[in-house]
Amino acid sequence: MKYQITPGSVVLLGGGPGDPGLMTVSGIEAIKQADVILYDRLAPLECLELAREDCECINVGKIPRGAFTPQEQINDLLVEKAKAGNRVVRLKGGDPFVFGRGGEEWQFCNAAGVEVKVIPGVTSSVAAAALAGIPVTHRNLTQGYLVVSGHIPPDNENSTVNWENLATAGLTIVILMGIKYLPEITSTLLAAGLAADTPAAVIANAGTEDMTYLKATAKTIADMTAKAGIKPPATVVIGEVVGLDLAGLF
Ligand code: SAH
Repeated sequence: MKYQITPGSVVLLGGGPGDPGLMTVSGIEAIKQADVILYDRLAPLECLELAREDCECINVGKIPRGAFTPQEQINDLLVEKAKAGNRVVRLKGGDPFVFGRGGEEWQFCNAAGVEVKVIPGVTSSVAAAALAGIPVTHRNLTQGYLVVSGHIPPDNENSTVNWENLATAGLTIVILMGIKYLPEITSTLLAAGLAADTPAAVIANAGTEDMTYLKATAKTIADMTAKAGIKPPATVVIGEVVGLDLAGLF
């Protein structure tokens, strides 16, 4: 069915990890219909070429610890543009509800009486691993995966992640926003019982021309990531699935 955006409403659009080919068909349709697009730094920017010539494209990208548009301003813009009768698309990287602040934007728009819909996206928490040939689950190896944010260290008072439990959960651990504090995170996991030789990988810029990844172990991954100069956006995967040999998959 053809996707239709109602004028005066907001669509939270998940654009996938960066490759425009990983945008959904509904997502492309929304981009084509939009009067206004507010987009993030990690969204698949090539898709903006499909927008109408008179579409207003606004960069609200947030660079971690750098210049950014405050969330309050983004919320206000969404409401202002929708209330002016526009079809507003809020384009984000990955899925809007996986560390994407999509829920907050939804609530804000709703409170202001603006209708919101969501188009889910391919999340990097699964796709980054997949693009490096790592399945987040594998029969007889692991029966699940956990996705956590590593944007604050484990001992930070605001951390709500029980890293000690993660260490012994027997599941694949996927860490987003975890490059800066990877040394603290891995040493906490190891101290809590994660085997030092558990395979681990870091995948940067998945789905883009700049994609790089490396494989190591839970003990060595932080060091190797630093030595290789790997920078965000990058996803870390820890678990037996990283050790699978899927050569010839692609
Ligand atoms: N909503 C997004 C995640 C936003 S948090 C999603 O569902 O994918 C941003 C973090 O996602 C980055 O710090 C990084 O850990 C991860 N990420 C986003 N794009 C990525 C990419 N192309 N390659 C690897 N990791 C990526």
